[in-house]
Amino acid sequence: MRSVGHFIGGKEVKGTSGRTADVFEPMTGEVQAKVALASKAEVRAAVENARAAQGEWAATNPQRRARVMMKFVELVQRDYDKLAELLAREHGKTVPDAKGDIQRGLEVAEFACGIPHLMKGEYTEGAGPGIDIYSLRQPLGVVAGITPFNFPAMIPMWKFAPAIACGNAFILKPSERDPGVPMKLAELMIEAGLPPGILNVVNGDKEAVDAILDDPDIKAIGFVGSTPIAQYIYERAAQTGKRCQCFGGAKNHAIVMPDADMDQTVDALIGAGYGSAGERCMAVSVAVPVGKTTADRLMEKLIPRVESLKIGTSVDPSADYGPLVTREAVEKVKNYIDIGIKEGATLAVDGRGFKMQGYEKGFYLGGSLFDNVTKDMRIYKEEIFGPVLSVVRAHDYHEALALPSEHDYGNGVAIFTRDGDAARDFAAKVNVGMVGINVPIPVPIAYYTFGGWKKSGFGDLNQHGPDSIRFYTKTKTVTSRWPSGVKEGAEFSIPTMK
Ligand code: NAD
Repeated sequence: MRSVGHFIGGKEVKGTSGRTADVFEPMTGEVQAKVALASKAEVRAAVENARAAQGEWAATNPQRRARVMMKFVELVQRDYDKLAELLAREHGKTVPDAKGDIQRGLEVAEFACGIPHLMKGEYTEGAGPGIDIYSLRQPLGVVAGITPFNFPAMIPMWKFAPAIACGNAFILKPSERDPGVPMKLAELMIEAGLPPGILNVVNGDKEAVDAILDDPDIKAIGFVGSTPIAQYIYERAAQTGKRCQCFGGAKNHAIVMPDADMDQTVDALIGAGYGSAGERCMAVSVAVPVGKTTADRLMEKLIPRVESLKIGTSVDPSADYGPLVTREAVEKVKNYIDIGIKEGATLAVDGRGFKMQGYEKGFYLGGSLFDNVTKDMRIYKEEIFGPVLSVVRAHDYHEALALPSEHDYGNGVAIFTRDGDAARDFAAKVNVGMVGINVPIPVPIAYYTFGGWKKSGFGDLNQHGPDSIRFYTKTKTVTSRWPSGVKEGAEFSIPTMK
């Protein structure tokens, strides 16, 4: 059986803790690999490697750091198909979806190729007599990323590409459920010319995460995962003075206005609600039709589309979505469906009975659709993270606007309408971090920033785009005076710009 170790000092090393976890192949339900779970000492070894290498890397001029990133982009493109298949077989999502996962990460690596420009500081000549002021951006040192199972290529790249381009060394702790692709990405960075020690991967669970949180040499942590863990990491990292950004769970609403193009809206809801088996932080999990007629028209079109979703293996190119990540994930989603029924929601389509012929042990679940969900129900308040869409009927626009605005989570939201006024009002007022107008999954492109509000994000800077450069650098401001001909004598009061 394949075993996955850690990537420390430029190469894969075996785990020494004696602890491992199973890596499943969700489409068959079989264990396909054992991944090592790092001890505190193994995390420490990775940090020491990173610390030893970081100074020289930071002193390498930014254009050369950019060239490593450019070569990395080329190598990932070379290995696209192999990486996508490995990703699909460990995560469960289909190969075309896995390619999107890789591509969305690669776009941030492309962004990081602009590091010579992105790290430029500011300069003011003649801020006072003989005084010039300039600011520099300097790397933090050793930084870490802790990432979730659901985007095992994209989110690691969102973290390490800008951090490394800025001159930091990086410790990546990917999800123990699908560690294969992060390990391959580290290998490709070395092939691209990255010095050993600048990108290390430690696989593991809470023990490795706690070792990262408590390590005094790690200066910043970027986390993505569920909200309870995001909050835990944010609080514990703050206690040791680390810079920290933590992105959590979501409950993304799609508002359907009476004037929306219903066919386009239904296409959008089906893709964004059920793609990747709903295991996306930007999945649409709540549809909010405005007015009874809109709701009835929506349900009439949605029901047959959910009933005819094509669920397949991860390597079936014609499948709409594949299996979920683990058996526990399937059980958790089924449990939420039971809860929804008990709470009084109408289960319009029930996907619990789905069986995949020939793959009976795989982690499959059909698409489910709830109607008449209300905001006091647990299936509305909590993140289900599976192929389940809940319809909450709103009487008017104001009620629809209030739903996502008052929800605990605030990751993404969308409005479907032909009315520019309504769209503009919604975008301005809704209390959510990322907004789509007739766009169901408003994940900003790489040169903008990505981040949710409320319980979907802790910390003030977003991921990728200009915020990633701010997050992985510290600003130094230099005030200099070359006072030829300026004679003012000693000054005892605070200097000001007179
Ligand atoms: P998770 O919180 O279980 O795990 C995330 C990371 O934390 C993993 O590396 C895991 O090993 C580690 N971890 C798990 N339990 C821990 C513990 N008790 N102590 C310390 N570390 C621990 O999340 P997941 O199931 O891998 O991913 C799905 C979640 O991530 C969903 O809630 C989804 O919405 C969220 N997510 C959010 C975003 C975003 O940008 N907001 C993006 C993708 C996924």
